[in-house]
Amino acid sequence: MTDGDKKKAVAVCDGCGELVPVRVWPDESLHPIGSDEGCCGETDYRILEDGESAAAFE
Ligand SMILES: [Zn+2]
Repeated sequence: MTDGDKKKAVAVCDGCGELVPVRVWPDESLHPIGSDEGCCGETDYRILEDGESAAAFE
């Protein structure tokens, strides 16, 4: 791990069902990668899987 305390995960948007790569901050909040507003403005995401699979989105 070279990315500080942040980790990446793949999450699904509760609003539209889109899969969204996210960063998980140390406080466990989720922040979509690549867009400040996520996919549809929805801010509730559920993590599908942690770890290396998220790297495929970058
Ligand atoms: Zn969405």
